[in-house]
Amino acid sequence: MWKKIKSAQEQKNTFRIKKELWIPVFVLMIGLVVLVNIDIRADSSQRDLIRSRAELNAVTYADHMKADIVRGIDITNTFEQIVISENGKISMFSKVAENMMVDYIQSIQIAPDGVVTEIYPEDGNEAGKIDLIYDKERGKISCYARDNDVITMQGPFSLKQGGTGIAVRNPVYLEQKNGERTFWGFTIVIIRVPDIFADSIKSLTDFSYEYKLSKSIAPWDGTYEEVYGSGVEMIDPVTYTFELGDSQWILEVMPENGWNSNEKLYRLWGCGLLIVLLLTGFVFMIMLLHRTQESENTVVELNKKLQKALEQAKTASVEKSNFLFNMSHDIRTPMNAVIGMTSLIRHDAGNKDKVIEYADKIDVSSQHLLGIINDILDMSKIEAGKTIFKYDDFSILNFIQKINNLFHSQIDEKKQTLTTKKNIRHEWVNGDQLRLMQIFSNLLSNAVKYTQEGGEIQFLVEECETNSSVHAKYRFLVRDNGIGMSADFKDKIFDAFTRAESSVTNKIQGTGLGMAITRNLVEAMGGTIDVESELGQGSCFEVLIELRIAEDRTVALAAQEKTDEQDGNILQGMRFLCAEDNELNAEILTELLKTEGAECTICENGEEVLKAFEQSAPGDYDMILMDVQMPVMNGYEATKAIRKSSHELAKKIPIIAMTANAFSEDIQHSLAAGMNAHVSKPVEMKVLEKTIRSIKSSGEAPKCRLLNSDKWI
Ligand code: ADP
Repeated sequence: MWKKIKSAQEQKNTFRIKKELWIPVFVLMIGLVVLVNIDIRADSSQRDLIRSRAELNAVTYADHMKADIVRGIDITNTFEQIVISENGKISMFSKVAENMMVDYIQSIQIAPDGVVTEIYPEDGNEAGKIDLIYDKERGKISCYARDNDVITMQGPFSLKQGGTGIAVRNPVYLEQKNGERTFWGFTIVIIRVPDIFADSIKSLTDFSYEYKLSKSIAPWDGTYEEVYGSGVEMIDPVTYTFELGDSQWILEVMPENGWNSNEKLYRLWGCGLLIVLLLTGFVFMIMLLHRTQESENTVVELNKKLQKALEQAKTASVEKSNFLFNMSHDIRTPMNAVIGMTSLIRHDAGNKDKVIEYADKIDVSSQHLLGIINDILDMSKIEAGKTIFKYDDFSILNFIQKINNLFHSQIDEKKQTLTTKKNIRHEWVNGDQLRLMQIFSNLLSNAVKYTQEGGEIQFLVEECETNSSVHAKYRFLVRDNGIGMSADFKDKIFDAFTRAESSVTNKIQGTGLGMAITRNLVEAMGGTIDVESELGQGSCFEVLIELRIAEDRTVALAAQEKTDEQDGNILQGMRFLCAEDNELNAEILTELLKTEGAECTICENGEEVLKAFEQSAPGDYDMILMDVQMPVMNGYEATKAIRKSSHELAKKIPIIAMTANAFSEDIQHSLAAGMNAHVSKPVEMKVLEKTIRSIKSSGEAPKCRLLNSDKWI
């Protein structure tokens, strides 16, 4: 028990240790999962935010850049107007150009008929005086501008003066008197890149963006070439496209550190991790506190359990001592009577009447003694789960009548009244009549014992309503108006060895086993037992039990009884071969059989029985009564040897086991060894007679069933 408690405790502790670890670990895991989730969401929303900002900046600075280029184009437009207003002539070019000159313009040029004639500033730009229409590199795009009346932008190209430039060529047309428009030439500016975009580039750099500005190579070619960029490869940039003249421009922008704001994520991770770790630590602390509290509770609980176990052990020990004390008293009383009466018989041997009177008293005391021993045996059988049930069809009405008869004299002796009432629909049922008899004998004998002289006892039987067509349910009530019981005692009345008062003090004999046996038998039959009682008022026991409905056998029974009557004493004239090693038992058996008109030959052990049987002629013996526990050869071995022998009746002669033990194994052993039936010692002639009748009529003994088992033996 202690070991069990200990191992259960150890298991609990292991579980607790696990619990204290796995709960914080679980919290940590959940925290990390949540953190990762938040991080993923924050990352994606951060990315979206950075991207929208980049898109906004791309739009803004692309517009700035567009405006910057338009400022260059505007210069060509101004000169176009001058050319048109002066009808193809241009005076004071240098003066006007000087005024219009800004630092991002490399040069302003005039190209009548496509040939560059004027360049401002001239210094360093002389090489630019070329025929644009026929120039190898510039011809195609210049012709396109001329023929399509569109401003073209060529470049970027390297400037001789250093840096990069874009040439903006604006075709100019003059309107003739007849309304026709004739190509006059080009007004041109060479824009310096990146100078023209200086502000936008600065802002983009200041805002930590990488960028790349590209333009289409030519109006007829959709390929882009870089105009200017921060020199970094663009990864998934935001773009903004715009159109100028016949050129497509595209500005690509991306943040310097890519699209993820790692710093923010690091901060988020740092804080999040700190919170998760703090939370885990907090949970761990709580679990430890809880464990300490639980351990304290467990110790208190364990102490309580130990205290209870100690009290139970003390009570059990007191109950056992009480039981032994009562038992020795209860056994001694009838034993004293037997011993006393035996000496009186010796003394009054000549007085036949006295001898008979003493013998009767010895009989009563012996029966009482046997009752006590049977109770103890029954209890040990029940506790070992070895009770045997013998199922037979019987009449409930006969059963009630038998009980009535059984208690008739006891009731009369105490001047009590026994009222029996019944209300049943099914009279014939299948069950163990003897065990039922034992149950109600116990209840009724207690009712008689614990009810004063002149008291009233009732035995009521009623059949309850059920839906079953196979089983009938009966309610049995045993009611008395005797001494009753206290509420405390009522709760433990069905425990073994408990009695309300010592049998020594109240002079009522008993073992305290009857009620325990009764409850166990009722429950083994699938029923229930309950008690209502009040001290000084009386008690009422209720037994509810279901029994299988059987065929009405009233007529068959009457016929059987008639046959039994006609058969008369079945033992009369029978010859038995008996194995019995105990001299006294052998003598009693011989004498008892003799009184029934039967003869017997006694053998002291199995070997002698075997020899006697083998030497016998058919008809010498009708049956063999076999003791089991014997020296030299036991009853089982002797039976097996007899069944195997070459004697004519080896297989046929009935063999009945006689043993002091009536446990199921004993019966099984006997049957397995080849015996026909089993009677328990001390042998009662009526039981022996019934067994022999049953063997003779059916060739076998009544079937027995093991308690708590569906197995028939
Ligand atoms: P016992 O052999 O002592 O009668 P039981 O197990 O039959 O043992 O009964 C246990 C105890 O229950 C009895 O000693 C008695 O105190 C109490 N008891 C049983 N039946 C009754 C009853 N009908 N009225 C009062 N007390 C009873």
